[in-house]
Amino acid sequence: MIVNMFGDATDEQIDHVIARIKECGFQAHVSRGEERTVIGVVGNSNQHRGELEALRAAPGVEDLIPISHPFKLAARGWRPAGSVIDVGKGVAIGGTEVIVAAGPCAVESATQINNTAKCVARAGARLLRGGAFKPRTSPYTFQGLGEEGLKLLRAAADENNLVVVSEVMDPSQVEAMLSYVDVMQVGARNMQNYHLLRALGEIGKPVLLKRGLSATIEELLLSAEYIMSGGNYKVILCERGIRTFETYTRNTLDIAAIPVIKQLSHLPIIADPSHGTGRRDKVAAMARAAVAAGADGLIIEVHPDPERALSDGAQSLYPEQFAQLMEEIRIIAPAVGRRVGDVRALEFGSPA
Ligand code: PEP
Ligand code: MN
Repeated sequence: MIVNMFGDATDEQIDHVIARIKECGFQAHVSRGEERTVIGVVGNSNQHRGELEALRAAPGVEDLIPISHPFKLAARGWRPAGSVIDVGKGVAIGGTEVIVAAGPCAVESATQINNTAKCVARAGARLLRGGAFKPRTSPYTFQGLGEEGLKLLRAAADENNLVVVSEVMDPSQVEAMLSYVDVMQVGARNMQNYHLLRALGEIGKPVLLKRGLSATIEELLLSAEYIMSGGNYKVILCERGIRTFETYTRNTLDIAAIPVIKQLSHLPIIADPSHGTGRRDKVAAMARAAVAAGADGLIIEVHPDPERALSDGAQSLYPEQFAQLMEEIRIIAPAVGRRVGDVRALEFGSPA
């Protein structure tokens, strides 16, 4: 259920409602919008459910609205205007600007990540991606550089004024990653790792939550709910393709999920056409489609030498292909009321 307060409800009235919700054995999650405050009531106490109804008559309360979805805080009704998530360095996801994260699948060396960072920053990317802990299908393939990779990633991002996004695979890694990473990525294979989601609910940093290989949209939103119910409301969703009977592409990028999620949830949704297709020559077309469908951003794999990449080389763009794609979405975005950040001034140097 959500409690819609009147636009002119006082702090005292809001505090009273929160106190009553807690007395009834529920959690109160407060969303202060420009027009009104909305309080999400979550929990599974049945004992005092009837008493909650009485809040309808409390001072400052306009309405109590039942939420029929199993996800509550992730539901659009909790923040009708949509969430805009500040990820640092003046970058916000969910606003007018379509935000692009780019970089290699995995951090491999200082040269590789520095070169990539320069190129993607110049082309207009705002975030630098790169895995240090890699969830590989085979235990015999490259598993990432670990903490050393995070250090290299942080340095390359800072040098080029980029925000860092990197994958966390286990609750035990959370603490150590906080000092290097601005946005914690939860990979598709971990979307339903509930221990990890709960651990991320306790941090203050934004989480990029990728859709599981065979997860429904509702399951994705329930995973977001795990993080949010812990008090961390900074969740960015990512459509990265699902497994279908089609084998030509690595996954099937579910473009329709973008407008569906926009309707069901206030959370920003970005698209990953790299994992969504698995094929370099199909990435740009799907990236363009995702922007046209209303995605708040993109995450794209870019490698200075994809043929020699230690992971996901076949789907990684060459830097010049990435720059070309940025030009294309710069043209598409205004058609759907959005814009793409400018090409950076060359103050950060030119690629080696
Ligand atoms: C990645 O971003 O490199 C990755 C492993 O993605 P996913 O979890 O979507 O497969
Ligand atoms: Mn990858």
